[in-house]
Amino acid sequence: MARSRLRRDVLVGGVAFVLGGGVVSGWHSYAANDDEERAAKKSRKKKKKKKKAERAKGKKLAGKGEKAKAPPAVCNVCGNEARFRSFAGRKNAVCPTCRSKERHRLLMHYLEHDTNVWSDELDMLHFSPAQSQEDVFRQLPKLNYKTADYLRDDEDLQLDLTNLEQPEASWDVLLIYHILEHIPDDEAAMSEMFRVLRPGGRAFVQVPIEIGRKSNYEDPTITTDKGRARAFGQKDHVRKYGSEGFRERLEAAGFDVDPVDYLSKLEPNVVEKHRLSADFKTPLDERIWVLTKPLDAKPSANKAEPSVETTQSRKAKPADDSGEKAG
Ligand SMILES: [Zn+2]
Repeated sequence: MARSRLRRDVLVGGVAFVLGGGVVSGWHSYAANDDEERAAKKSRKKKKKKKKAERAKGKKLAGKGEKAKAPPAVCNVCGNEARFRSFAGRKNAVCPTCRSKERHRLLMHYLEHDTNVWSDELDMLHFSPAQSQEDVFRQLPKLNYKTADYLRDDEDLQLDLTNLEQPEASWDVLLIYHILEHIPDDEAAMSEMFRVLRPGGRAFVQVPIEIGRKSNYEDPTITTDKGRARAFGQKDHVRKYGSEGFRERLEAAGFDVDPVDYLSKLEPNVVEKHRLSADFKTPLDERIWVLTKPLDAKPSANKAEPSVETTQSRKAKPADDSGEKAG
C-alpha cells in the first residue's frame, strides 16, 4: 500500500515536472499578452487575497465572540483566575495553574461549602490525591490529613485498598475518587473502607457511571489492555459501573448510600464561574457518592493481623488520565 502510494507520488511528480518544463519553454511565445495576462492574474490574486482576509477576520471575530461569551474561570481550588485549558476534547476543563479538573473542583466546592471538612477536627485519608487538592487539605488547620496510594511510595502511606493495614474505626473521612473501577476485587475494597471508618464516618466516592446505565458490567476474562479499553472504556478499568449496581454493592458492604447531586444545588452561574461540570462526550453521572458507616454498625469480624505482604489484588494503576497525580 505504502509502496504503491509512493510510486504514484513519484509519477505525479514526474508529470508535474514535465508540464513545468513545457510552461517554461513556451513562456516567450505568450510575451505579447503579458501585461493583460499579468493584470488579470493580479486582479484574481487580489480577489483571492481579499476573500482569504475576510475569512480569517470572520474566524477571528467568531473566536472573539466565543471568548467574550466565556470569561476567565475562577479556580476554587487554587484561587487563580484564568482561561482554562481543554482536556480530552472538553473545553475549559483544566486550571492552568493547579491542573485541577472539573471533578476535583466540584468535590472541593462541595466539601468546603456543604460538609464539615473545612471546620471540624477530622482524620481524613485521601487515596491517590490530585496535587491541587492535596495542597489545599494540608493547609486546613484542624484536619489531620494523610494521603495514600497503592503503587506510589511518595505519599504518606502505601496502602492496598483491598487489604488496608489500618486499625478498625480509625478514620472519619475517606476520599476515594475514580479508583474502584480499577480494582478487580472491589467488594474487598468496599468492606475495607467500611471497616476502617468510624461509625458516622463518611467516604466520598466517585466512579465513572454513564448516564442511564443501571447495572454493572464486568468480565474477568477480559484481561488485555485492548480488551479492557474496548469493553470498559479505558485500558486499566476492570468494569463499567451502573448506578443501581454500584449502590447495591456499597449497601452490601454496610454503607448508607447517598449519591448527592451537588451540581443541581448550585446556581448555574457558580457552576459556570468555576467550571464545575464536565462537558463529556458520553455524559457521565457527576453525583458525589456519600457513603456513611451507620452509628450502630457492629464491629467487623476480627480481622487477621495484617500480613507484611499485601495481597496484590489491585493490578491496575489508579486513575491517571492526566499523566500526573490522579484523583
Ligand atoms: Zn487552579
